[in-house]
Amino acid sequence: MIHSIYSNKDTFLRELVSNASDALDKLRLETFRDKDLVADTSDPHIALEVDADARTLTVRDNGIGMDRDEVVELIGTIARSGTAEFLKKLEQSRDQELIGQFGIGFYSTFMVADKVTLVTRRAGTDQGVRWESTGESTYTIEDVDDAPQGTAVTLHLKPADDEDNLADYTSTAKLTDIVKRYADFITWPVRLDGEEKPLNSRKALWARPASEVTEEEYAEFYRHLSHDWNKPLDTILMRAEGSFEYQALLFLPSRAPLDLFMRERKRGVQLYVKRVFIMEDCEELMPEYLRFVKGVVDAQDLSLNVSREILQQDRQIQLMRRRLVKKVLSTVKTLQADRPEDYATFWREFGAAVKEGLLSDPDNRATILGIASFDSTHDQDAQTTLAAYVERMKDDQTDIYYMTGGTRAAIENSPHLEALRAKGYEVLVLTDPIDEMWVDAVDEFEGKAFRSIAKGQVDVQSDDEKSAAQERGKDFADLLAWLTTTLADHVKEVRLSTRLTTSPACVVGDSHDLSPTLEKMYRAMGQ
Ligand code: ADP
Ligand code: MG
Repeated sequence: MIHSIYSNKDTFLRELVSNASDALDKLRLETFRDKDLVADTSDPHIALEVDADARTLTVRDNGIGMDRDEVVELIGTIARSGTAEFLKKLEQSRDQELIGQFGIGFYSTFMVADKVTLVTRRAGTDQGVRWESTGESTYTIEDVDDAPQGTAVTLHLKPADDEDNLADYTSTAKLTDIVKRYADFITWPVRLDGEEKPLNSRKALWARPASEVTEEEYAEFYRHLSHDWNKPLDTILMRAEGSFEYQALLFLPSRAPLDLFMRERKRGVQLYVKRVFIMEDCEELMPEYLRFVKGVVDAQDLSLNVSREILQQDRQIQLMRRRLVKKVLSTVKTLQADRPEDYATFWREFGAAVKEGLLSDPDNRATILGIASFDSTHDQDAQTTLAAYVERMKDDQTDIYYMTGGTRAAIENSPHLEALRAKGYEVLVLTDPIDEMWVDAVDEFEGKAFRSIAKGQVDVQSDDEKSAAQERGKDFADLLAWLTTTLADHVKEVRLSTRLTTSPACVVGDSHDLSPTLEKMYRAMGQ
């Protein structure tokens, strides 16, 4: 199970270095927030220690550390059978991309080690803890008295002549190579066997000109931030100078996280102040509907002490957020124009989230409509933009027709579609739950109104047809009156329809009624 989690075994080291880096970030933050915390912050760093004879590799940090409960909760659980079970299922699915979406970081050590020992002491406490496991479903845990502050993870490496042809992780050259490749941007020094000079250059990636950074480096940083195995779809570098200086490095992922539509989901933008990590999941920087955007914003003119409350009220932050949003949307627009396939991937994965912005971000509504795509009756296999729809509109057509529903099949089989189809009008097929909401709030696109074909009178008749229909109405007046009284408990009115070609009858809503899908949604919510 452990073996196929990552195709490249070297990645265990980046997981450990990344955890150590997080632990140092957390310590810095905590000493800042809690002036009474007694902690050693004299030389924050990450150390790699090799014992070639014993075949051990230790990754040590003097960061925040963990207390016993935390070790059980954070490290122990992964070895518990439930998690192991879960990983086994994942492994069977052989879906590397899916696997990449889970933070199984620490567990990746068992790709190269047959035993892992972790010794840790939380900053500000006296009691150390020693945890050990062979990667099966059990572990041991005991108190130790002489643990230094922070965490040391010791890997008892598998034999080098192992069937997997294991690389030699006690080799200086190998370790240097891996750290340079995967952790060069880590802010804290990574030192090897007591050497003063760190292996990593420690240059913040967002502060370096794009021309100096390889795509690989960006991808690696994205992986560090997001724990996502897949390459990002696009990278956005932004720089603002002047009275409020900041740099931003943002990523559009290529695959939606599993929790995109869950209540407790996270947003992906971290806030740094002058290279110092301040907080993750910074909702003041990115609106809800762009919650999938990952990255870093580094502001020069904020206090390290900045709190959520201050961020919420800060006008500069609001301005910055507005610019970040505009930049993300314009990046999607460029993607749409220049890389249609990548755009299609983007919209498939994130379109349903982006459309929430049609409601929550009226200022950018026109832009969002511009970058949106929809299923339509024009083409079964490809989505259409609104601009392309308008381009195809018939000469006498004034509105953009749409129908909402649970599935494409339900909409296509609906009698509402018949008359329009017969006349050759194109209808947008809207099946995302959010579609029900925005169609009520958004009036028009480039002067063309959105019109539901399931509500009110859809007018697709010529004048001749209209007078013919009126004539016919007279013939049926008695029948209609009778039907209206007979069905009075169920319907408001019975009309002679011109929109049906093969079905004998259909039920329509009033222009202002809830659509059937929305009605179902409200009913499901108990309203
Ligand atoms: P992730 O980093 O994605 O949360 P990991 O499996 O890498 O997943 O680590 C699990 C958790 O264990 C971390 O979130 C962190 O709370 C804790 N942890 C791991 N390594 C360290 C460390 N060196 N110092 C302090 N805490 C750590
Ligand atoms: Mg980790």
